[in-house]
Amino acid sequence: MKITTKAFDHEIQCPTCDFNYTHIKRADIQDGHDNSWHGIGGYRGDVAVIKMYCENGHLFNINIGEHKGNCFISLEPKGDISDL
Ligand SMILES: [Zn+2]
Repeated sequence: MKITTKAFDHEIQCPTCDFNYTHIKRADIQDGHDNSWHGIGGYRGDVAVIKMYCENGHLFNINIGEHKGNCFISLEPKGDISDL
C-alpha cells in the first residue's frame, strides 16, 4: 500500500467494529534492537505505536514497524475501554 501525501485520503476505522469515529490517545516508540524485543507484530526493528480508541469503546494501536529495511503499518485490536 502506498500512503499518499494528501491529508484526508486514508480514514482510520476501528479494527473491531469498523466505526470511523476514532481518537488518538498517545504515541510511543518501542526499541526493537533488531531482535523483536518489543514483541509487536514480529517486527525486528523499532515500532512507532499510536494508541487509539473508537467511540464504541474499543482500544487499538496503529503500529508502524521496521523489519529488515522496510517499514510496515498495521492495526492491532487491544480490547475494550471497560477492560482498563
Ligand atoms: Zn470499535
